Amino acid sequence: MQNKGLLIVISGPSGAGKGTICKALLEKNKDIKISVSCTTRMPRDGEIDGVNYYFINKEKFAEMIEKNDFLEYATVYGNYYGTPRSYVEEEINKGNDIILEIDIQGALMVKERYPEGVFIFILPPSMEELKNRIIKRGSETEESFNKRFSAAYDEIKYMSKYDYAVVNDVVEDAVRKVESIIVAEKCRCNRM
Ligand code: 5GP
Repeated sequence: MQNKGLLIVISGPSGAGKGTICKALLEKNKDIKISVSCTTRMPRDGEIDGVNYYFINKEKFAEMIEKNDFLEYATVYGNYYGTPRSYVEEEINKGNDIILEIDIQGALMVKERYPEGVFIFILPPSMEELKNRIIKRGSETEESFNKRFSAAYDEIKYMSKYDYAVVNDVVEDAVRKVESIIVAEKCRCNRM
């Protein structure tokens, strides 16, 4: 019988570097898949529909909720985000490992349904550095920056709900740590 793939959930405050870590992980590990979420937020410069997100309107999002198309969904910083269920389930059943880069509300929902998943929380080295990173990204309005930065204090309180915490100071080190976690999880006796 084929083993199921590993469901890897990565969360952390906006600006902690989850996206950068996931991108590097995927480049180094071609067999790991990533789930592309749906969102009602507007695309940022350079973001591509179907690659970074499926950018959809609120009506379509509501329709997908109605049809039970989401594995989880949440309102984050004023917009809807959700993980399409079918792709994740197909990949796991095929034995492929898959990453979900989602917020804490979504991660807790996934944990109820997939307690066998591995839940990793990415932390910035300091709140000052978090602030600098969000500003440097240059994609947020002042209102959106304030929402994201103030939410970070609440988000960090949920760290203890996760299996692992990784501080993202130097990206390469953080990626190595996440890779080590994945390797260790795949060697667990109760996963064989
Ligand atoms: P951003 O707008 O910066 O791309 O993402 C904002 C937040 O939404 C991030 O914390 C990101 O992890 C989270 N997010 C992205 N996709 C999903 C999703 O499908 N579900 C949930 N619950 N959160 C998501």
